[in-house]
Amino acid sequence: MDLAAKYKSVTEKINNACLQSDRARGGVELVAVSKTQTAETISELLALGHRVFGENRIQESQSKWPSLKEQYPDTELRLIGPLQSNKAADAVTLFDVIETIDREKIAKAVASEISKQGRDVASYVQVNTGMEDQKAGIAPDKAVEFVHFCQNDLALPVIGLMCIPPFEENPGPHFALLRKLAREAGVTELSMGMSGDFETAIGFGATSVRVGSAIFGARVY
Ligand SMILES: *Cc1c(COP(=O)(O)O)cnc(C)c1O
Repeated sequence: MDLAAKYKSVTEKINNACLQSDRARGGVELVAVSKTQTAETISELLALGHRVFGENRIQESQSKWPSLKEQYPDTELRLIGPLQSNKAADAVTLFDVIETIDREKIAKAVASEISKQGRDVASYVQVNTGMEDQKAGIAPDKAVEFVHFCQNDLALPVIGLMCIPPFEENPGPHFALLRKLAREAGVTELSMGMSGDFETAIGFGATSVRVGSAIFGARVY
């Protein structure tokens, strides 16, 4: 299948998952994860009308996105990979949404850059729902308090939560936990679900799904 066919197939699966869980299609955003993809490939998807993209590395994004964003100014670019505080300025300059706020130092750096640059950047707190040592994200039992700290003490506009469930586990319980934590924290956006499980995530209330290989094919590093 070519890119257009794969993209169409993913959007149809999203439509069906929304129907099956009685959800409005407008309530689920497809974030096309374009990490490792060339600007040329990304342009093909932009030409098909898609506008919401996710990247996980700042440097790679800086080499591809400024010119693409100039051509398509209504593009929304989301950072879905780990952020170091010394890259906060670059992240706030380029990204429209930062989904990986997971500790005080990063939250402070992003909040300070947002006010310095006067850019409107929405944030999500990443939660390590599987409590995996090697994975980024705040522990589930600290998440609600951390969201409130970001919002109240740092004036950081946190609007949702994001998670990446452990690869080898059934993702359902992780999606359910993220939804529960978001309710407790009083935030509405849920970024969860990837190529292998986005339909399941929609059933659990995902408001955005991050889909890479199902659209672009297997990544070549
Ligand atoms: C790469 C990546 C994705 C997309 O993964 P696929 O399995 O290719 O859909 C989603 N979320 C994050 C955080 C990623 O790094």
